[in-house]
Amino acid sequence: MQERLLTPEPYVKVALPVPMRTLFEYKVPKAIALRHQLLPGMRLKVPFGKQTRLGIIVELCHQTEWDPEHVKPFTSLHDESPIMPTAIMDLCNWASRYYHHPIGEVFFHALPALLRKGESDTFRSETWWLLTELGQKFDLSELKRAPKQLAFLNTVNTHPNGLSPHIMRLHDLQNTTAKALEEKGLIQGELRHFSKNVEHHGHQKQVPPTLNNEQASAVNKLVQSLGRFNVALLDGITGSGKTEVYLRLIETVIKQDQQVFVLVPEIGLTPQTLKRFEDRFTTDIVLLHSNMTDRERLDGWLMARSGKAKVIIGTRSSIFVPAPYLSLIILDEEHDASYKQQDGFRFHARDLALIRAKSVNASVILGSATPSYESLHNATQNKFQWIKLRQRAGNAIIPSMERIDLRGKTLVKGFCETTLEQINTHLKRKEQVLIFLNRRGYAPTLMCHDCGWIATCQNCDVNLTVHKRANKLHCHHCGHYEPLINQCAECHSHEIVTIGEGTEQVETQLAHLFKDTPVLRIDRDSTSRKESLNNITQKIHEHDKAILVGTQMLAKGHHFPNVTLVVVMDADVGLFSSDFRGMERTAQLITQVAGRAGRASKPGHVLLQTYHPENPAIESLCTLGYEYFATQGLQERKTLGLPPYLHQVLIRSESVDEQQSYLLLEQVRLEAEHVIHHFNYPIQVMGPYSAIIVRKAGQHRYIVTFKSENRAPLHQLISQLAKSLEQNPLTRKVRYAIDVDPLETY
Ligand code: ADP
Ligand code: ZN
Ligand code: ZN
Repeated sequence: MQERLLTPEPYVKVALPVPMRTLFEYKVPKAIALRHQLLPGMRLKVPFGKQTRLGIIVELCHQTEWDPEHVKPFTSLHDESPIMPTAIMDLCNWASRYYHHPIGEVFFHALPALLRKGESDTFRSETWWLLTELGQKFDLSELKRAPKQLAFLNTVNTHPNGLSPHIMRLHDLQNTTAKALEEKGLIQGELRHFSKNVEHHGHQKQVPPTLNNEQASAVNKLVQSLGRFNVALLDGITGSGKTEVYLRLIETVIKQDQQVFVLVPEIGLTPQTLKRFEDRFTTDIVLLHSNMTDRERLDGWLMARSGKAKVIIGTRSSIFVPAPYLSLIILDEEHDASYKQQDGFRFHARDLALIRAKSVNASVILGSATPSYESLHNATQNKFQWIKLRQRAGNAIIPSMERIDLRGKTLVKGFCETTLEQINTHLKRKEQVLIFLNRRGYAPTLMCHDCGWIATCQNCDVNLTVHKRANKLHCHHCGHYEPLINQCAECHSHEIVTIGEGTEQVETQLAHLFKDTPVLRIDRDSTSRKESLNNITQKIHEHDKAILVGTQMLAKGHHFPNVTLVVVMDADVGLFSSDFRGMERTAQLITQVAGRAGRASKPGHVLLQTYHPENPAIESLCTLGYEYFATQGLQERKTLGLPPYLHQVLIRSESVDEQQSYLLLEQVRLEAEHVIHHFNYPIQVMGPYSAIIVRKAGQHRYIVTFKSENRAPLHQLISQLAKSLEQNPLTRKVRYAIDVDPLETY
């Protein structure tokens, strides 16, 4: 009698987390084929070299490309059913092809860390405590002598749906106390599967504000596009109420029992934003970000995959989280560069959002007050629906911008007199002032006044930043630090001076100048501890007058109702950037920071300190606004043949050995030229040229750029080059990376 195999295909193709652009083939052991039906998306263990590795089945096949004799059987099956749904596998396959990234690494990137390590894809269970009948009737005064038990019982009382371990931790309640009460028969435990935040949703939800006309019309249009693939650019000035528009759409999605992703930039999600979501909806909201434990992330992932979580809020990698009922993806602050991963697997979450939405007929909203040139271009080409909000919501009005000419002026700690006077005026009115300087630390340079020596990093070609409070010199590029010195390393003079200002210095100086005003600093140094950003924002809300000093962290989505004056200390930084995106970024940053002014009932004002007040870029941004500025910028890109009118791919190299780093890319260029010539591809090659900071963290970095109006030949060429690179013996000493649609080109 013939045995019936549950898995008739004798081979599987497996994704393994290794840097090779291929799947690996294994034989299905007969014993397993008889007992299990194998499916793509299941994990399995395979022999790999001398090790056993965890992999994911990507395909089952009847034939192998290799000599069947040499195809090894896999070791064991790890899952009973696929852990990764087809939609996500398709997305991974697409991403691996488009970004020319090793497929196994893409698959493993898409999984939560614990699943990569072999954890089972089941919810964690935990004990929740409920009152027994006896407990409900119990006279609490009997517990007077047992204050811990009394506190515990009181808390159970206020959580009629059950007291979770999470709430127990918040209230500092112990398991031993629970056991004691259980023994008295007052409470009973119930094993529940993890389900996030259920405890928050007992209370009354907030009543939403009435939409203004623009918002209402936006919501109308967007609701109509739910349930099919559609991309809308929600181009709304700061404070125009974009979040309110999102909330209305999310409400609709929840009512339809569908799921929605809200993607936010890395640090863009302030606790305030999350609170706005939690205050509005009674459904389970899953939050996924880097500040969570692996277990918490897996639980969130499972909630999304089960369809239980209707709203999934997360950073760029969340685009790989399974959601069977996905009908809407919102990308807030879509222009933000943190949507692009800048190392390893260099994907852009915006592109993947579009691909994913298309495959499941979901709709996409890209929201921003300062849309990326790419998205604006797509909107002008009618590829995206373009929805504009040009009024501020509620009673707020748009802040006015003023250029402050610094030429020939005496500066006091980086401020000219006019600026200081205005700061004073606003503080006297008990309002808050925000100072923006995108440079943390005390000063960007430490120099010897006698011989001109400058403190530089031992690993990078950059100056060290002075951090006075920490008493250190810090490299912002590799993380290296050393003690702050007061003597020149060359001539031993004590005439050591700092040049330029960073936020730490500005904070100190302003505290001197405005003695009775609290000065609060917001940058990566002041907020490095988990709760500190929260604490600072809390303080900002508590005070009436205050000065806030900060870096671009301040630009991201914060709502400080009492800020009426914003000072951009150095509006010229982006003017002479070597990256063609420099102007776009500066304009976005300035507009976003300016948008922090006058967000409530009091009007806001913005001062741009500049040495180039007549520079057309500064002038048009100031007088005509971002949309006009960006339209001009796009025109310029077109003339110069730059993205989005042309497509770019970079190949980067880095090595401690400078020559080899260069040589690898020289070989890449030669091969490229050969292929381009042979197929007559319309592709331009530039380089190898050195990165602007050639040596970073001890690595010498070079770049080759490929440009074309046509993506297809570009991808064909890069595939070919990637194959050769994998075989190139130089890559044992030189690391390389392929960067498709790079955001940084230096
Ligand atoms: P954006 O995301 O566009 O910067 P927000 O959605 O944060 O703007 O809205 C700015 C402020 O205006 C918030 O405090 C919000 O609660 C409030 N707001 C939004 N829409 C309305 C409205 N229709 N009526 C009154 N206030 C509103
Ligand atoms: Zn010196
Ligand atoms: Zn360094």
